[in-house]
Amino acid sequence: MQGLMQDYPLTLPPVFDRFERLYPDKHVVWSTVSERRRSTVAEWTDRARRIGGVLDLLAVPAEARVGTFAWNTADHLALYWAVPCTGRVLHTLNIRLFPEQLTYIVNHAEDDVVFVDRSLLGAFWQLFGDMSTVRHVVVMDDGAPTELPDDPRVHLLDDLVAEAPPVRFGVAGDENTAASICYTSGTTGNPKGVVYSHRSIYLHSLSALSAAGGIGMAERDRVLPVVPMFHANAWGWGHAPLFAGAELVLPGPQMQPERIAAMLEEERVTMTAGVPTIWTGMLPELDGRDLTALRMVLCGGSAVPRALSEGYRAKIGMPILHAWGMTETSPIGSINASVSAYDGLGEDEAADVRARQGIPPVGVDARIVEPGTLTELPWDDKATGELQVRGPWIAAAYFGVEPSTESFTEDGWLRTGDVGAIDRFGNIRLSDRTKDLVKSGGEWISSVELENHLMSHPAVAEAAVIGVPHPRWQERPLAAVVLKPDATATKEELVSYLEPRVAKWWLPDDVVFIDEVPKTSVGKFSKKDLRARFADHQLPDVTPGR
Ligand code: ADP
Repeated sequence: MQGLMQDYPLTLPPVFDRFERLYPDKHVVWSTVSERRRSTVAEWTDRARRIGGVLDLLAVPAEARVGTFAWNTADHLALYWAVPCTGRVLHTLNIRLFPEQLTYIVNHAEDDVVFVDRSLLGAFWQLFGDMSTVRHVVVMDDGAPTELPDDPRVHLLDDLVAEAPPVRFGVAGDENTAASICYTSGTTGNPKGVVYSHRSIYLHSLSALSAAGGIGMAERDRVLPVVPMFHANAWGWGHAPLFAGAELVLPGPQMQPERIAAMLEEERVTMTAGVPTIWTGMLPELDGRDLTALRMVLCGGSAVPRALSEGYRAKIGMPILHAWGMTETSPIGSINASVSAYDGLGEDEAADVRARQGIPPVGVDARIVEPGTLTELPWDDKATGELQVRGPWIAAAYFGVEPSTESFTEDGWLRTGDVGAIDRFGNIRLSDRTKDLVKSGGEWISSVELENHLMSHPAVAEAAVIGVPHPRWQERPLAAVVLKPDATATKEELVSYLEPRVAKWWLPDDVVFIDEVPKTSVGKFSKKDLRARFADHQLPDVTPGR
């Protein structure tokens, strides 16, 4: 048919140009190790264009990977835009990966240049010798006094910016070119690279982040991503604010709960996002603060304990907004935004609904399938199976890896490795990750559900449940519990607390008290480390369903 719309590509440069033109007097705020700094949008966009010029000065080729090893700062944000808007590919390196994983991903992505925050230079430089493709290291000022190595490959960004002209970002181009790459944190095996395109970032920003039925970031917002810019595409919070025209407030190296809470208050932040561990640590810091500007606390990365969300509701009058996603899904796959179908529920039921993972935004198709088959299960909130998703911001393959049916189905869906059910309104309720389910006597026990109940006990700060090998039942649940400071509880008390809440055969065979739940590089409970620690744990001889 003739007379169609313009075939205009969905690329990032026009979004950047629009932000620059419409909002020059707004601000980008960030912390260094010692102070808070702020730029106008006009100053920040000029610097981003000059950083594009720096890439030209360093002769970084088209499509070359530009690594970052950095906190959430204005320069890191500038790289989020300058790199793809000049045809290169941003590779955000997780600063908390093990050294061998870090050198693995730099070498695997073949990073050409790496931009490093000065406070992180020591850690980075120790590994530099093992990075085979990196030609230049560009050091970004974050207020740290770290000495620079005497090496011609090391440059100060400020020196290069002084020499570099601001460059024009292209307008057209191919929307299906790579904009950035992010590796999964590699809880099993080597990390795997997920490549985002201009188009996938564009659609994810519009639908998942900016639409009113999604996260709904808007022009009036001042947003503070606590989620690190190296975790899963910063959950879209490095891109969406420019689509929306929102202001950014970035914590830099000041990641302590009291510093973040102070920043939320002093900068009148309206929206913030992070993993549950962050919000658990922050709960005591909320007292006595004026957080009246805040309208959204977004949480994802692992299941949000109902008690944590209710804790926020009690203290600041706002429950946590729960979202689900993966590095492979850009990452937003579902959002638990308010929907009219649940209007009129009682407090308790409403809190249960808020603990669900939410509804996929337009652009994400979801299904639950019978494990090991392609048979789709009904959305009746009972049938439980593997969650699979597809859509324009869902990975089709991993970088440099042959697609396998372990990760992608023959009919083109991403296998998430998460297990759950969907209700008739499309709202997902995950019970666990496949590998974390406790497999007891041929049945599954949801570690997440047990944890949620344990964490609603007033004496419990954190609880993680793992399966421990059992001669008769294959595995049985062991609960590892961290008590709140000065609180006490016995194993018997905690098991009796669970008794009316779960099936008898779900009750943990044992409860151990630990000082801290080990965390992964992005702050989730590390079940892998817990399993290793308690691999030889002798469970007491109790009969399930006692
Ligand atoms: P990694 O797999 O290394 O942790 P990701 O951050 O990509 O890296 O993790 C994605 C996984 O995190 C999901 O498959 C899921 O198991 C878990 N997850 C993310 N959000 C939630 C949530 N809201 N509730 C439960 N689990 C979640």
